[in-house]
Amino acid sequence: MSFDSFIGNSRALASVREMVASGRVPGSLLFSGTDGVGKKTLARMLAKALVCERSAGDFCDACPRCRKAEEMFTTAEEDLARRREIKDAARRVEGLVYFDFQILEPLTRFILTEQIRQLRHVAYTRPFEFPRRMFIIDDAQTVHWQAADLLLKVLEEPPDSTSFILICSNPYELRPTIRSRCLQIVFQPVAESAMLGLLPKQEGLNKTQMVLGARVASGSVAKARSFDLAAYEQRRKPWLEFLGVVARSAPTSADRADWRPLFDSAKALAESRDDFEATLDIGYSLLRDLLHVLLQGPESDVTNVDILPRLRVWAAGLGLRGIELLKSGLDQAYRLQIRNVNQQLGLEALGLEVSAR
Ligand SMILES: [Zn+2]
Repeated sequence: MSFDSFIGNSRALASVREMVASGRVPGSLLFSGTDGVGKKTLARMLAKALVCERSAGDFCDACPRCRKAEEMFTTAEEDLARRREIKDAARRVEGLVYFDFQILEPLTRFILTEQIRQLRHVAYTRPFEFPRRMFIIDDAQTVHWQAADLLLKVLEEPPDSTSFILICSNPYELRPTIRSRCLQIVFQPVAESAMLGLLPKQEGLNKTQMVLGARVASGSVAKARSFDLAAYEQRRKPWLEFLGVVARSAPTSADRADWRPLFDSAKALAESRDDFEATLDIGYSLLRDLLHVLLQGPESDVTNVDILPRLRVWAAGLGLRGIELLKSGLDQAYRLQIRNVNQQLGLEALGLEVSAR
């Protein structure tokens, strides 16, 4: 492994390489941009390059220091995972130990005050095994508001031998005072052509299905690498049945039998309760596609390219009004999901409303 193995975002990569080569790494960096494009990966690469014994201006992943760095990051992530399993949220921060290279992530919905307190405590002490410390703060927008001032103080008076890399998808969710303390490196979604090469090998994946995979990943290297066509189709199927019913004009009688497919698909959609957000994402992507098709936008903007003919029929059947109704229905499902309400009734009602428009 070396910087050459990093995929996409060549400008961000060039900036990082330049910092390493010149030996001038800012005390505070902010890596921003859409999820899954490699912000944390590049942060870890940068950290290793700062201590690698073999590759000047790069890292080798094989020397004792590179291996030690990798071990620190892995141990930190395992520790975070273990703490998140602890039922009593207040106890998740007990006995925090930070290595010279450390990753901070939310332990509840937030990165907790105690995590930042510990960071501040450690940051001003001498590094233990390496010449310097590196703190990677992932999902930096989740730093608890009570801890934001504390973090800001550290960023304002950076310890000599410590660097901070804040990571977040939307930099505007950070306080302006924190944002302005950091040198920002913006990551872009990875281009479709590069994504195609990342898809895992799957039996008999045709060209259209590969494009589907690349677009579902929407610029995220991580999503492209884990794309599973069968799983995606399985999750999308009830939506297609749902749309198939609601996009047709309403039956003349209100005979319940006519609505059976709608109720069945609503049930199937609601059953994916554990991962209802992922299910909703597919619903939204289908609605965006329908809108694109209806407004005759470029085909390159359509995610679900493998069902284009059906999308055309449904878009015509639903019209702008129908798509809008479905969109507001999904927004409501999203809000209810947060409040843990039964989804099936909501989706049935939505289907009936759209069909009867
Ligand atoms: Zn090395």
